[in-house]
This record gives sequence, C-alpha cells and structure tokens, in this order.
Amino acid sequence: MSFQSLGLSEALLKAVSKKGYTTPSPIQQKAIPPVLEGKDVLASAQTGTGKTAGFTLPLLHILSENPKEKFRPVRALVLTPTRELAAQVYANVREYSEFLNLRSAVIFGGVNQKPQAAAIRQGVDILVATPGRLLDLQNQGLLSLKRVEIFVLDEADRMLDMGFLRDIEKVIKSMPEKRQNLMFSATFSKDIKKLAHGILNHPVQVEATPENTTVDAISQKVYRVAKGLKTGLIIKLISDGNWKQVLVFTRTKHGANKLCEKMIKAGITAAAIHGNKSQGARTKALAGFKSGKVRVLVATDIAARGLDIPLLPHVINFELPNISEDYVHRIGRTGRAGASGEALSLVSADETSFLRDIEKLIEMKLPVQIIEGFEPDPNASTAPIKQGQGRQNRNSRNSGSSRSSSRNSKGSSNSRRPNRNSDRRN
Ligand code: AMP
Repeated sequence: MSFQSLGLSEALLKAVSKKGYTTPSPIQQKAIPPVLEGKDVLASAQTGTGKTAGFTLPLLHILSENPKEKFRPVRALVLTPTRELAAQVYANVREYSEFLNLRSAVIFGGVNQKPQAAAIRQGVDILVATPGRLLDLQNQGLLSLKRVEIFVLDEADRMLDMGFLRDIEKVIKSMPEKRQNLMFSATFSKDIKKLAHGILNHPVQVEATPENTTVDAISQKVYRVAKGLKTGLIIKLISDGNWKQVLVFTRTKHGANKLCEKMIKAGITAAAIHGNKSQGARTKALAGFKSGKVRVLVATDIAARGLDIPLLPHVINFELPNISEDYVHRIGRTGRAGASGEALSLVSADETSFLRDIEKLIEMKLPVQIIEGFEPDPNASTAPIKQGQGRQNRNSRNSGSSRSSSRNSKGSSNSRRPNRNSDRRN
C-alpha cells in the first residue's frame, strides 16, 4: 500500500516523501481512511507505531480542504499527557503541514505562557497541548475551544495514569458537541473503555502492534543482585560493554537523580529526565542523549513516555516497575527499526513479585544471570516493596494494585499488549 492510495492531498504526500517515508505503517493504513471519512476512531497503538502521522496526516487533510484563513479559530486540538510528547507531536504537525496554509502552536506548562498566548492570539488552526496549561489559558480567557472540529486524545492511558481525567472532562465540556474524536491508547483498561465511551461516537476501532518491536524479538535478561550492589553492577555493565547509548529506568525521581550523580562520579556522562526537572533541563538532557554527548539517560516511566529516541541499543531497568505493563513500554524502546536491542533488568529480592507479574504478563520466563561479585543477598527479604512507593502522580488506574491492573487487561479482549505474543502467533 502507498500513501497515494490513502487519498491524501499532494501537499501532504510531498511532506511525507520529504520525511523519507515510503509505505504507511499498519496503524496509518488502518486509521487514515476512517479519519478522512470523518469517523470517530479508537486506536490501540503506542509510540513507535507511527501513530502520530496516523492522526496528523488525515487531520491536516480535512482542515486544508476547508480553510479559514482570515480569522483562525482552533479547529483541531491534540491533547497529550506530557510536555515532551506535545513538543514531538507539534514538530510532526509542523513538518507535515509544511506545504499547507495552516498554522499550528504548542502549549505546555513549565515555560513562560506569554509567547504561547501571543501565538494563539494571532490565530492557529491546530493546537497541541497538555491539559494543565490549556485550562490555564482558557481560564484566563486567552483561548477558546468553541470552534474545535477535531479532537485527538493521545496516549489516553497515560492521561489517566497521570490523573488528568477531570481535566479532560473540563476540556471536553468547552468544545462543541458536534466534532470528530480520535483516541489513542496503548492499553484498554476498564477506565479507558469508560472514557472512550464518553467521548467517542460509534468509533471505528483500529489496532497495531509496534512495527519493529515485539516482546519476544528483544533480547531480555535478568541480573539477580543485592540491592546495595546495583549501582556498582550497572556501572560495570555499561563500562565493560562500552555502551554508548543506554536508557536506564528507575522507579523514583529521587532514585534517578542519585543514580545519575553516581554515574557521573564514575566517569560516565549521564543525565536524568523526570517530572521535577524544568522543561529546559529535560530538553537539554534529551538533546544530549540523542546527539551522543550523554551516554546514559536515566528516566522515570512517565518522563520517558512518548520520547522518540530511535535505534536504542540498550535499555536497563535499574528497578523493575511495579506496574507490569510499564515493563513492556520500557523495553519497547530498544530494537526499533529492525536494530537488535537488549533489555536488562537488575532485580533484588524485594522485586521478586514484580518479576513474577511481568513474566506472567509477557507469557515468558526471563533468563537469569548472576555476576561474580554482585551476587544477590541470600538473607534479603522477598517481601515486595510497598505499594505506592515510588509512584509519581499516579492514581486513577492504579487505585487498585499494580498486579490487579495487569490481570484486568489480561482478561480483556481489547487489551493488546498482554496478548502480544499470542497476537504474533495467531
Ligand atoms: P510515532 O509512533 O508516531 O511516535 O512514530 C515513530 C517513528 O516512526 C517516528 O520517528 C516517525 O518519524 C516514524 N514514522 C512514522 N511513520 C512512518 C512511516 N510510514 N515510515 C517510516 N517511519 C515512520
């Protein structure tokens, strides 16, 4: 299938070809036609599937067919959970609309609102936003959503994880009832289905697994290690392997900072990225990592969500996530674009139950290795780390235990990731 056959305008085809894309990804093939027909769409897709172009291209097509050049009210709103994702989606919107007469802007918190308000005042057709700043500007009377024709809710599951449900509801109330709605989510918990039911009108459902990444295509390994020896082990692995670009996950912001400091002391360039970092610091860390100046990026789950870092050879879980699905998100960052990837997890005794839950979710046992000098502590308790410890801004979906959350999705026919392996087999 080609982009031409999807019915996109010449201006969009030109932009797509400038990006170097030759074939639409599965989610693009499935989502673009119903969006162009004006239908509501519920898409199961995560970062790495090409989902952004999946909604941006048809959205731009629709808006450009019926331009409003003089007075430009916001006609399309894309809501994202994080600033980084908002910035990435906006960058995509800019690129794909290069040959169209459409204006776009991005707004998110943590930076001065003045330039954002000024951009909106001049008129924008497409607004990409995080919920907090959007509502802020709206409350100040600097922004109206009364003319929105297309609403995109990106990474809806993360939105709920981050406690944005109320904000989403407020945003929805400020838009006209008659509009086209597109919702993207990697998982389909009960809460997500409820949200979808409230937003979407007879949606077409589409689904895509990440193109180049499947759980069983990634080389995964567990290192059993004493808690106190983890830092030494991770430094050894990175140094011995001479790894140049490593994404490391910690459960807490504090843990990310601490690990980062120790890496730097050991002579490994590292930067941390998490919710407490300023927008400038996050952008700088990510740019340094992408350019190769920074060897190790230490991230928390929420901060890493949606980051577009192609061709990542190594992902290390310094601590296992207490939400099993986050493990799949994390390791999905390696082995992209057909490159070989390796996902390693440092597991101490108190994480044993997390490991078991993850293995249940991905339906495979992970190979275990012990490195001499970094053995696990035989006397350490295997009692799990307390629920809630290390959680960041997570509530709604996680009001139950992390384990019940993975069980829920496993039992759900709409849940994609837990059945990913079986998806592949079928
Ligand atoms: P996304 O899932 O939207 O974050 O996209 C993941 C990556 O795939 C981004 O780097 C996109 O630029 C890239 N991409 C999107 N669509 C295509 C396509 N049809 N062919 C090749 N790469 C693509």
